[in-house]
Amino acid sequence: MPLCCIVPPHILERLSQSSSPIVRQKALETLFNTYRLSGERTIRALSFASTSPDSARRSIYDCRNGVSLQRARLVRTEDGPASTDASVNRAFDGLGSTRDFYRTVLERDSIDGRGMRLNAYVHYDRDFQNAYWDGQQMVFGDGDGEVFVDFTKSLDVIAHELTHGVTEFTANLTYHNQPGALNESMSDVFGVLVKQWVGRQTAEQADWLIGADILTPDIAGDALRSMKAPGTAYDNDALGKDPQPGHMNDYVELPDTSRGDWGGVHINSGIPNKAFYLLASELGGNAWEAPGHIWYESLRASSTDTNFQQFADTTYAKAGQLYGASSKQQRLVYDAWDGVGIRVTGGSGSKTAPTAEPEDTLQELVRQVSRIGEQVERLAADVADLKSAANG
Ligand SMILES: [Zn+2]
Repeated sequence: MPLCCIVPPHILERLSQSSSPIVRQKALETLFNTYRLSGERTIRALSFASTSPDSARRSIYDCRNGVSLQRARLVRTEDGPASTDASVNRAFDGLGSTRDFYRTVLERDSIDGRGMRLNAYVHYDRDFQNAYWDGQQMVFGDGDGEVFVDFTKSLDVIAHELTHGVTEFTANLTYHNQPGALNESMSDVFGVLVKQWVGRQTAEQADWLIGADILTPDIAGDALRSMKAPGTAYDNDALGKDPQPGHMNDYVELPDTSRGDWGGVHINSGIPNKAFYLLASELGGNAWEAPGHIWYESLRASSTDTNFQQFADTTYAKAGQLYGASSKQQRLVYDAWDGVGIRVTGGSGSKTAPTAEPEDTLQELVRQVSRIGEQVERLAADVADLKSAANG
């Protein structure tokens, strides 16, 4: 399984062709170290697969610009004082906010639901242009300073990465094609929800951007992704143009290779992202309430190869279970998927229900009346027959 990095390969490849020699070199090094780590992760997954339940205690390590996690120094724990290093404190607080969101809002005890320890490594490598979750811990680069700043600066990036862990321990959506795009989308959804919950922002107040805080002010783009308007997060010389679609009509078919972003997992995730945004904005209020609960229960009810259609159907079923059949929440779930070109199987939305139902009911009533009429006629004929038989 590939590493779950916040900066997708298509952006790093673009940067590796940058006109700035420094950006070019840093992007190549980031790509190289990302592939190296992918191999390391596979080995570790085979040999050290155990997780130690420990009430989600946090430990922050400093790589001191090295690339060895083993040689990193422990710099902050739950019991110790705050660090003088802002990156260490931001990583510590970001892990804490994400842990508290899952515990308070979704009643989930850490990543694995069983109090898994939360370890993070900061100052990984020199000018590393990425942050990732490797199945065991979070690793942050400092950014190159020209395109990206310190990756600990974005809470939605931290929550995005930790949610890859939650997905791994629940549906374990495979990181390819539509299940992979759903995997990415789950991280974006709960990534923004953590940020909105901490900032007490309603769906209307939130910016629905991922990674807005890790791009330098020099970069004209807003963020890595926009859930509200996929495809509009950036458009500039450094990064190119945001390739995300927000509708099935624009679904991007890509090869299932690292160059093809494993079938476009960071690209087609725009479609379920937009569906979540549509539900949250139509319902209004706090997106972590009904929309967040519907999505979380649907993630828990999904499996490794769940595709967009199956996930949409599951959210509709879960909305019915949580808030009632034909509830406002359930009808708006239907509308949200309809808005991105996915028709929930056997469902109905707020626009279809009021017009279609009375018509159907009326027709059914007419049919019933005519059936009763026929029965009455037959009964009258039977009675007449009986009468004439008795008289005769
Ligand atoms: Zn991701």
